[in-house]
Amino acid sequence: MKQLLRWSAVLRRQFGERVQKVSLDIGAGCPHRQGLHGGGCIFCDERGGGSGAFIRGISLREQVRKGIAGAWKHYGTRSIILYFQSYSATNLPLERFAAALNEALDAAAALGANVRAISVSTRPDLLPEPVLDYLQELTELCQVWLELGVQTADPRGLQWLRRGHGLDVVERALARLGKTRVQVCAHLIAGIPGEFEDQLARSALWLTDRGVQALKFHPLCVLRGTALEELYRSGRFAPLSREEYVDRLVDALCRLPDGVVLQRLTAGVRPSRLVAPAWILEKEPLERAIAARFLSARRDVPAL
Ligand code: SF4
Repeated sequence: MKQLLRWSAVLRRQFGERVQKVSLDIGAGCPHRQGLHGGGCIFCDERGGGSGAFIRGISLREQVRKGIAGAWKHYGTRSIILYFQSYSATNLPLERFAAALNEALDAAAALGANVRAISVSTRPDLLPEPVLDYLQELTELCQVWLELGVQTADPRGLQWLRRGHGLDVVERALARLGKTRVQVCAHLIAGIPGEFEDQLARSALWLTDRGVQALKFHPLCVLRGTALEELYRSGRFAPLSREEYVDRLVDALCRLPDGVVLQRLTAGVRPSRLVAPAWILEKEPLERAIAARFLSARRDVPAL
């Protein structure tokens, strides 16, 4: 019987204890934005999907220190993932990118943390060969994950989100990554206007057919200061309801091949940054509802 393969459980099995993410913001920016404050994908705010630590002037060492202290205080673990979350973390010359990674690794070592994995978020069109080679070298040290913002496998959806690239770019990126030991986690969004009702499932299968090992799902949500906020306030965009999201996500989960790791089933948004939908703030009840629906739905799933 199909199971939800949560990353937290996989890591606990691999390392014998909880492994906690330490989110880092190196202010790498994104070639698709105008500086840190404007432009870019329709849903992206000035924090570039991250903590905003760089904009607030918090040094990388301090971010690492705080993350490790939080992992110890809340979960009693020194096992961590250095998660380069904000913007497109590979948007730096190799020397600066490598210097940031080394600084974070040194800081973690000095504080006695066990770095079990490094995870780097970026765009599919931003994988320079030297950076990929460097990430490949790091796989000798620990797990290395690339978090690829794909969002949808529907070319019209990519256009609506203003991603600035087509599906061919994603396909080429996955083909290159498939030749490395770097593991890939792709991000997918549900609720893009005009998409098929089962687009989330279609996109997930498109990605796993191309070797993606893990997925992160979330509904299209409206953050403050984004282009999407303007559409929402003028009535030209409506987010999915909670029920619609659970339906679409569970449909996708039931169709996934065995062994695909689920790194996230919904968005994690600070209340102060969120415009809509409010229901995503109730994360734990939502995750319980998803798990319950999955259990009842997994028995009888027709093929796509
Ligand atoms: S690629 Fe990522 S960081 Fe760049 S604009 Fe889009 S969501 Fe923001």
